[in-house]
Amino acid sequence: MVGILVTPVGNIFVANVNRHSSDMIQPVEHVYANTLRPLGSGVMLQAFYWDVPLDWYTEVTQKIPEIAAAGFDNIWLPPPSKTMNGRYSMGYDPYDYYDLGEYDQKGSIPTRFGTKADLITLISSAKAAGLHVTADIVMNHNSGGDSQWNPNTNSYTYTDFSGVASGKFLRGYNDFHPSTYEWADEGTFGGYPDVAHANPYVWQEFINWGIWLRDQIGFTDWRFDYVKGYHGWMVRDWLTYVGGYGVGEYWDTNLDLLKGWISSTDYKASAFDFPLYYLLRDMSEGGGYFDMSRLAYAGLAGSDPFHATTFVANHDTNEIFTMKEMAYAYILLSEGYPTVFWRDYFDWGFKDAINLLISLRSGYAGGSTSVLYSDNDLFIMQRNGYGSQPGIILMMNDGDTWKGQWVQTKWTNQRLVDATGRAYDEWTNGDGWVEIWAPPRSYTVWIPS
Ligand code: CA
Repeated sequence: MVGILVTPVGNIFVANVNRHSSDMIQPVEHVYANTLRPLGSGVMLQAFYWDVPLDWYTEVTQKIPEIAAAGFDNIWLPPPSKTMNGRYSMGYDPYDYYDLGEYDQKGSIPTRFGTKADLITLISSAKAAGLHVTADIVMNHNSGGDSQWNPNTNSYTYTDFSGVASGKFLRGYNDFHPSTYEWADEGTFGGYPDVAHANPYVWQEFINWGIWLRDQIGFTDWRFDYVKGYHGWMVRDWLTYVGGYGVGEYWDTNLDLLKGWISSTDYKASAFDFPLYYLLRDMSEGGGYFDMSRLAYAGLAGSDPFHATTFVANHDTNEIFTMKEMAYAYILLSEGYPTVFWRDYFDWGFKDAINLLISLRSGYAGGSTSVLYSDNDLFIMQRNGYGSQPGIILMMNDGDTWKGQWVQTKWTNQRLVDATGRAYDEWTNGDGWVEIWAPPRSYTVWIPS
């Protein structure tokens, strides 16, 4: 039976829903409005968390001036489409891709986050302030379809999405695995109907939807949910035909697997740096026994920074409790594109520290990285500077006492100031050597002054 279904058998299983004809779309070079900040000139803010209050878009819109003033360049919003669970859902169970809070279905007109009009107001406000706006794209699975007879499985499956109120991107059983185009792909999620991107109709409709999100709604960039569950070429094609910056949630600590996935997108996509996240979590949980030298050139950011999107917490995982500010110092002053979690910034007391680190990043933390010293308790790295950014030194100490360490810096006969205000000024000698200090379970940041 499997052997039959993996081979296309003509149109008999294909024409199961009404198809929307659409012209083939040519690849485009995505051009941002001139007013948007260049991505990477600031950092990304994850502008939601699990179970945010209803009508969240309005709350984010009110915060846009503060977000822009802090030096962020991008806000990441939750999945925008109407879901099986309507207002109760965080968006990761999409039902009608084109209902962004416009049609009365699944219990309400708005999504949990508000109406389509609220979303467009938010995006317009953000872009007017120079911010990119990243959409969370859930392409692996769907939820909320009606039951239908499925000849591919000889059973009833909840794969009938022909009744979506938008009337767009209708789907039926052959748009899901097992499909005549493909029996299965890399993974499924929670038993939800698993979308078959190998079906050309599905592929085309996703590309159409991406272009609609870009041109009609205003999103500029993309975060791809659960990319372990489907082919990397789908993300590659999205970024080819829709454009923008894309980051995939490849939730794995295995660096080689992450790099393999990035390769499968033809290096068009970045990946969240889960290996670095778990290393920083181990530091946090280590109680001073973590080997700080493991932070040298760590994670994806340490080996392929141009494809690394770093973070220390997100809506799914928040396990760094002690030394979290130090974890932020690491990602915000390292290479890679850092993400700040909404709750850390607005609710959990890290705003002032993060603001300082963002300004230090933009003002000083350019160029390549040199690890100046590391041992079990200390990690000291220098960004070597680039262009107008002169460079910066981060010193981290997970031990239980103040520690000093001699290091050779890029500066000679130069006063260095700890921008965090924790340590006294120091002077480098004629060979660049200086003894710098950091307090227990904390960090200092050294800049020329
Ligand atoms: Ca899948």
